[in-house]
Amino acid sequence: MALKLFNTLTRSIQDFAPLDATGKTVGMYCCGPTVYDFAHIGNWRTFVFADLVRRYLEFKGYAVLHVMNITDVEDKIIKRVRENKTTLREFTGKYEAAFLDDLRALGCLEPHHKPRATEYIAEIIALIEKLIARGIAYQAQDGSVYFSIIKYQGCGCNYGQLLKLNFDEMRAGERVASDEYEKESIADFALWKARVPDDGDVFWPSPFGEGRPGWHIECSAMSMKVLGESFDLHLGGEDLKFPHHEDEIAQSEGATGKPFVKHWLHGAHLLVEGKKMSKSLGNYFTLRDLMAKGFTGREVRFLLLKAHYRDTFNFTLEGLQGVRAELARIDETITTLREIAGNTPLDLNKDYDSKHNVVLMADFEKALDSDLNVSAAWASVHQWIRNHNPVDMRIGKGLNPDFAAKTAARSLATWEHVDQVLGLGGRPLEDVPAEIMVLANDRQKCRETKDFKHADTLRKLLLEKGWSVEDSPKGPKLKKL
Ligand code: AMP
Ligand code: ZN
Repeated sequence: MALKLFNTLTRSIQDFAPLDATGKTVGMYCCGPTVYDFAHIGNWRTFVFADLVRRYLEFKGYAVLHVMNITDVEDKIIKRVRENKTTLREFTGKYEAAFLDDLRALGCLEPHHKPRATEYIAEIIALIEKLIARGIAYQAQDGSVYFSIIKYQGCGCNYGQLLKLNFDEMRAGERVASDEYEKESIADFALWKARVPDDGDVFWPSPFGEGRPGWHIECSAMSMKVLGESFDLHLGGEDLKFPHHEDEIAQSEGATGKPFVKHWLHGAHLLVEGKKMSKSLGNYFTLRDLMAKGFTGREVRFLLLKAHYRDTFNFTLEGLQGVRAELARIDETITTLREIAGNTPLDLNKDYDSKHNVVLMADFEKALDSDLNVSAAWASVHQWIRNHNPVDMRIGKGLNPDFAAKTAARSLATWEHVDQVLGLGGRPLEDVPAEIMVLANDRQKCRETKDFKHADTLRKLLLEKGWSVEDSPKGPKLKKL
């Protein structure tokens, strides 16, 4: 069945069809983090959504080239570098590394390319030169280079493809120098910002004088360099539609004369307790804040994946607490299937498949094909879990053990297929703190060298830290008490 997605460009749900004539490869760009602080859970909602899109496209058989930029120079970063009396690279490097750690903790696949804006200055300059040559960009008195919306429209191009804009409010010739501005202040925007004393050491030489790029042009330059002048999918949070994405389209189409992106996908925002997140309201959480409260990245991922990407999501700590029981139910079923299946070899073409697995695969795909309807997809998963009751499976209901093992292996293979999209994994090792893993491994080594006394001491230590260890034929199993 064809995948249907809502395209912000056409404001309608459309069949997804890549530009590639063979229909096999997909170029996908998601605006990445501005590395001036730890990413908050609103940001993570958008990045987990992008991960879901990528995983589902791969599930559908596409070869996806996933690009996510790192915005490592823009207004907010420069301000923080100045305040912290540090260097750009030192400052952004710390938050970039933290971002990638969090990305992994949330079970997101790492994008294939993670271009940093500061490493694409030559491409950015070349793009601005093209726009100047086409008469769409100009250098103003302040030395900065601006994009002229009037000139762009004069070339028959359309500014306002993602949002309806009121051009009556636009005052021709007015300029906006900051990276972020409201819809009401549509004006010529900065492509290259001339160096000012507040920029400190953050500047590059260019044919337009020393300065630094504007935020919007960075994404145009990086996405087109890696994915080509026209590509399939561009994602981001809904706040980026204007001005960021509108400006990306204008700069790219203005320079190349070609359609920039075929499908635009925007994720709705996350609120906390019904309110916009803000540090002053005390409802602002990074992933690290939640981990410090004892939650895992996997639990946060599970919660973020429960809501449809176009619905505003209301995050609460109670909601996050609530996913534990649901995840535990899934984990119990999968663990039981693993125990029963053992190492049973499976021939997917020959071995018996249960109706439950066939129904799950069909319903899951039908749901996600329909503009990523995750609620229906989760309903199919929960039904399948109910049909794989661990107690019933253990009793085996009179099945011969060989058949039971094959059936379990088949169900497990089905789960693993579905989980390529969900990305929950089994109960992951990351759930076990590193310190506990070290103690458990040491204890295992003691047992292997028959140092049972020391092994026992380590078991007691693990118990004191709230972990029990059971020895099974497949090795030790840790359980949180
Ligand atoms: P930034 O690092 O601010 O450039 O944002 C990174 C991504 O997070 C962008 O795609 C934003 O649209 C998205 N984003 C920012 N705030 C929220 C929020 N509260 N809910 C969902 N996505 C958000
Ligand atoms: Zn961007």
